[in-house]
Amino acid sequence: MADIGAFGPSLPAEYGGGGMDEIAYGIIMQELERGDSGIRSMASVQGSLVMYPIYRFGSEEQKRKYLPKLGSGEYIGCFGLTEPDHGSNPNGMITNIKDDGDAYILNGAKMWITNSPVADIAVVWAKDEEGVVRGVIVEKDMPGFSAPEIHGKWSLRASITGELVFDNVRVPKENVLPNVAGLKGPLSCLSKARYGIAWGAIGAALDCYDSALRYSQERVQFGKPIGQFQLTQKKLAEMITEITKAQLLAWRLGSLANEGKASPAQISMAKRNNVHMALEIAREARQIHGGMGITNEYPCMRHMMNLETVLTYEGTHDIHLLITGLDVTGLNAFG
Ligand SMILES: Cc1cc2nc3c(=O)[nH]c(=O)nc-3n(C[C@H](O)[C@H](O)[C@H](O)COP(=O)(O)OP(=O)(O)OC[C@H]3O[C@@H](n4cnc5c(N)ncnc54)[C@H](O)[C@@H]3O)c2cc1C
Repeated sequence: MADIGAFGPSLPAEYGGGGMDEIAYGIIMQELERGDSGIRSMASVQGSLVMYPIYRFGSEEQKRKYLPKLGSGEYIGCFGLTEPDHGSNPNGMITNIKDDGDAYILNGAKMWITNSPVADIAVVWAKDEEGVVRGVIVEKDMPGFSAPEIHGKWSLRASITGELVFDNVRVPKENVLPNVAGLKGPLSCLSKARYGIAWGAIGAALDCYDSALRYSQERVQFGKPIGQFQLTQKKLAEMITEITKAQLLAWRLGSLANEGKASPAQISMAKRNNVHMALEIAREARQIHGGMGITNEYPCMRHMMNLETVLTYEGTHDIHLLITGLDVTGLNAFG
């Protein structure tokens, strides 16, 4: 993936990124997820949740030390925000850092962390003694740090997921991201990743649609290809219409992002709409394949199960609806 420029496509080349614009970044995510949402997740985390915060909030030394190695894939990174008891409400986090001279002592745990068991570094969000959220870079061999794998996933099986456990981990002060304080730090990274997801989900939908279209032209029932029946055509016509609408949404959002004008609420709307669209298409495409659709000969069921994660992570389907609700009414329905 590093060789094709999938890690940090829109970050500057001098720091290990691809130097491309936001639409190129989006199309790369679309094509990776045409393969598998887990593959795209790996690239999203590496580029948007690890390289991006170091690029945006890191010191010059941190950028030079980590970004080229992350861009080339020599280092794998992960992003620790979610905790066992704090998912949709990250502000409740209990992971914390305490001042100890030339270092901070980090304690706590993170849950559902993409790449964590194989990561060389983790960008971890923790509260300082004043309760302000800070970002720290934790390296895999720091004593007291472990990253056990989470087993038994029916979804995103091509992506490794784990925990992050911090037991009095001594993190040197030079590993704190100096230019960010507060939850807006992790949320700005999530905006970047969610934008990529709005594109990525289209890739999963395209793969399901392509497979269903081909199958409908080959599979014969009642003496005709099933693609000749109006009910099959309705499914395919509606699929390609929804895919085209989702692409237009992502493309327009990409134009705004290129101008630095894509708002978090607009990104929420696109992530929510496009992931839901892809999940619906995976289900419809599975139906067109009949019984064969439930097997691993065809991609629909795999995409469908992957998209259940994509619907939930980086802000759940319902939380993004509440963000749109807040945007249009000015009234906060979160709690
Ligand atoms: C495979 C996978 C990979 C992941 N990778 C990462 C990662 O790399 N880094 C990371 O930090 N996190 C990661 N996550 C975590 C993900 O972002 C969280 O699962 C997600 O934010 C939801 O949190 P939760 O699972 O604790 O669910 P909860 O927050 O407990 O939500 C449960 C349900 O309650 C609903 N709900 C919650 N609050 C409200 C409300 N106010 N109003 C209405 N409904 C509400 C939700 O919409 C949801 O349906 C990953 C998750 C998965 C499954």
